[in-house]
Amino acid sequence: MCRQFAYLGPAASLHDLVYAAPFGLERQSYAPRRQQHGLLNADGFGFGWYVDGQAEPVRYRRAVPLWGEENVRGLARVTRSRAILGAVRSATPGHPVQEGAAAPFTAGRWLFSHNGAIPGWPDSAAALAADLPFAALARQQTLTDSTLIWALLLERLEAGEDAGKAVAAVTRRVHEATGARTNLLLLDGEQIVATTAGDTLCHRQGGVPTPDGDVAPAVIVASEPFDDAEGWMDVPDNSLLVATAENLTLESL
Ligand code: GLN
Repeated sequence: MCRQFAYLGPAASLHDLVYAAPFGLERQSYAPRRQQHGLLNADGFGFGWYVDGQAEPVRYRRAVPLWGEENVRGLARVTRSRAILGAVRSATPGHPVQEGAAAPFTAGRWLFSHNGAIPGWPDSAAALAADLPFAALARQQTLTDSTLIWALLLERLEAGEDAGKAVAAVTRRVHEATGARTNLLLLDGEQIVATTAGDTLCHRQGGVPTPDGDVAPAVIVASEPFDDAEGWMDVPDNSLLVATAENLTLESL
């Protein structure tokens, strides 16, 4: 399975979160500590982040291992944002290794990532695909279990459904239709929504010093802790997490 994280708070450096943290996403790409399935996340990576004054995020993704990709390492040094989502991918057997299969997936103001697999793909997913108009599938660059789940979620988000309700409903629907239990992660620049269904997730909330000498609230939601410092809390399996920089709620799915 993959590893993923989202950050909200004062403008943070992509480099600090991904490369400088002792067990940040780069380290998790070749030596994850809590991954339940798969040893390496070598099949691609992606980052999405928001720029002040723009509702739609910027995305950079590639179908190569994060640890060997020097372009994004340099880009990360000059990238700071108040809202970031990152993911590294371990392709599920039967799925292509392509840029279009690497999270984050994006449309409008949303960024989305998925950690899990639909067993028996693609036959097992036929009932799920039948929930969607063909155009919703056709707009995906690559068709994988992750992009099918993203298409299901996007239908609800674009219809104006509350993001928490939509993510919870899709997590349940995928389970009901295919038996798959999958962790979803959604960011819109202001709010993180995540579910735990079958894999690890934790969060850390806290104050981060700002350049003006203030302390501003921040939150990280991640498949696994970035370091061994105190403050990381495990999210129980079968939960819905909704967080802003200031406030985090957990409820049972
Ligand atoms: N099944 C998805 C894929 O192949 C996600 C994989 C994962 O969680 N490792 O891309």
